[in-house]
Amino acid sequence: MMDFTLTAEQLMLKETVANFAAKEIRPIAEEIDRTDAWPDGMWKKLGGLGVLGATIDTAYGGVGLDLLSGALVGEELAKVSPSISISYGAHANLCSNNIKLNGHEEQKRKYLPLLCSGDHVGALGLTEPNAGSDAVSIQTTARKDGDHFVVNGSKTFITNGVIADTIVLYAKTDRQAGAKGITAFILEKSFPGFSVSRKLDKVGNRGSETGELVMEDCIIPEENVLGQVNGGIAVMMRGLDIERAFLSTYALGMAQGAFAEALKYSRERVQFGKPIASFQLIQAKLADMWTLIEASRLLCYKACVLADAAEKGGKGTDLHKVTAAAVLFVGEMADKVCTEAIQIHGGYGYCMEYPVQRFWRDAKVATIGAGTSEMRRLILARELLMS
Ligand SMILES: Cc1cc2nc3c(=O)[nH]c(=O)nc-3n(C[C@H](O)[C@H](O)[C@H](O)COP(=O)(O)OP(=O)(O)OC[C@H]3O[C@@H](n4cnc5c(N)ncnc54)[C@H](O)[C@@H]3O)c2cc1C
Repeated sequence: MMDFTLTAEQLMLKETVANFAAKEIRPIAEEIDRTDAWPDGMWKKLGGLGVLGATIDTAYGGVGLDLLSGALVGEELAKVSPSISISYGAHANLCSNNIKLNGHEEQKRKYLPLLCSGDHVGALGLTEPNAGSDAVSIQTTARKDGDHFVVNGSKTFITNGVIADTIVLYAKTDRQAGAKGITAFILEKSFPGFSVSRKLDKVGNRGSETGELVMEDCIIPEENVLGQVNGGIAVMMRGLDIERAFLSTYALGMAQGAFAEALKYSRERVQFGKPIASFQLIQAKLADMWTLIEASRLLCYKACVLADAAEKGGKGTDLHKVTAAAVLFVGEMADKVCTEAIQIHGGYGYCMEYPVQRFWRDAKVATIGAGTSEMRRLILARELLMS
């Protein structure tokens, strides 16, 4: 039987996060964007609310909910501030979920409670200046030396990179072995040889501190290998479906934020003696935007449920196809809905004083970050042709 309803627990979580976002984030959302600064105390507030550990087991300081619950948090945050949501996703999913899925007991006990409480900020470092879509061509190296690895290289576009305490980092441990020569590590910002070289000045998602990281003879103890040496691709692949499912709800949330602004404005703006909402061409836009959002919701939530089931041992689903389709469709949907929201605002949409432009700028990354639309189509086509 198909059931399209959220559980009572998920509904309560949604409401809790929506209330938090209305009280703690909405009043400062424009300021976060204008100053391009992460708000003081926000990590501890999110930790206090319990959402940073939504998907982490209670034994490690989390709440032990399913993946869809974690993604619903991202959706609610993105309705108000995509910047806060993207940083939440990098922390709670790219860092914490990867440690949860691949870490050994000691690593989980050491890092997850700090990440769940917001005492530590998490990030994931894969992309490099010369290795984006072609992630396997990363040039950062990690050489074994006694009981530690010596890491050299740089990472760019790292969400939370400027302020992160704990970073899941990928490096080449065997340069000749291609994809089979990559290892994942847990890097702490206090490790010798690590530094942040600069913060990126982005068009959107301002306030989400995106940075460039440098490792110069950086020492990472061998107990901080995440998964197996030369097994980095397994770590990457294990997190990939979850990452796509998570990221698609971020795009879903921001589209709803822009839609709400457009709906409100269409009722308020009067032209030709009537609210513009009374014109059928504007009504058609609103109807199409809402339909795209609802279609996206089905794909997003299905991706989350399938990814969760697969983690719990479920088999026989179209998991890779559905998660690839979700992140592709919903990313492009957010871009389109936010553009239409600007159109409904006319010239005022193009001015900084209306919040809709912030969603429009933030939306672009939904077709670029964590794999571009082009790469998502290639991956999906490969899955289709293999099946
Ligand atoms: C705001 C933001 C946050 C990010 N956060 C993180 C993070 O936390 N951690 C992290 O590791 N990375 C992060 N990234 C990096 C992101 O994953 C990369 O930007 C993305 O994978 C694309 O890589 P690139 O920017 O180098 O583009 P490129 O790979 O250089 O691509 C440039 C263009 O070429 C196209 N292209 C490339 N190869 C092909 C091909 N084979 N066929 C057709 N077209 C192709 C692309 O689709 C794109 O249009 C973030 C990026 C942004 C913008």
